Amino acid sequence: MKKRIIFATGNAGKMREIHKIMEDLGLEIISMKEAGLNPEIIEDGATFADNAEIKAKAVWECSKGDIVLADDSGLVIDYLNGEPGIYSARYMGEDTSYDIKNANLIGRLDGAAEEERTARFVCNIAAALPGGEILHTEATMEGVIAHEPAGHGGFGYDPILLLPEFGVTSAELTMEQKNAVSHRGKALEAMKKLLKERIVGEEK
Ligand code: IMP
Repeated sequence: MKKRIIFATGNAGKMREIHKIMEDLGLEIISMKEAGLNPEIIEDGATFADNAEIKAKAVWECSKGDIVLADDSGLVIDYLNGEPGIYSARYMGEDTSYDIKNANLIGRLDGAAEEERTARFVCNIAAALPGGEILHTEATMEGVIAHEPAGHGGFGYDPILLLPEFGVTSAELTMEQKNAVSHRGKALEAMKKLLKERIVGEEK
């Protein structure tokens, strides 16, 4: 049977990104929804890696010999001891708008010196291989928390992560620019390399 990759997400934007990055692996890539899988997933890990692995394993357990990928990501602010971190989506409640969340985080950095405003997006990708072995890759996009939100691209906390390398926030990059340097883009690229060695190599 030809191997497939199932990505444990319902997010259409993430599916587009993974298709773009992984297409040259020559494997079919589908979402868990397209695979008809909808297991209950309780993300109660203590790290991004734990949560990515919990998602990958839950979907792998109801798949049939497929490769399952899952990601977990968030914003880590040093001055706030790593908050919102693995709670990024849930910070101040899932239904609270990001305008409010972003204003709140900027407010909590009142009093921080410029060099204390360092922060990053982190993404961990877990892959459950057909035999059950788990692989991980992790990458970051480094920046500082802006004094004001800026930009309308992207989503979530993009308007407040200022990228010194570009002189703009993550929300001011084009999608292509962001994918080339983002935590998720880099972690996916690294995972593609691992899968190429492990899976595609085995078939030759
Ligand atoms: P998840 O990995 O889909 O669980 O996303 C976790 C949360 O982290 C998102 O809901 C956002 O709040 C935040 N986040 C992760 N990646 C990004 C990004 O690229 N831009 C802005 N916010 C992000």
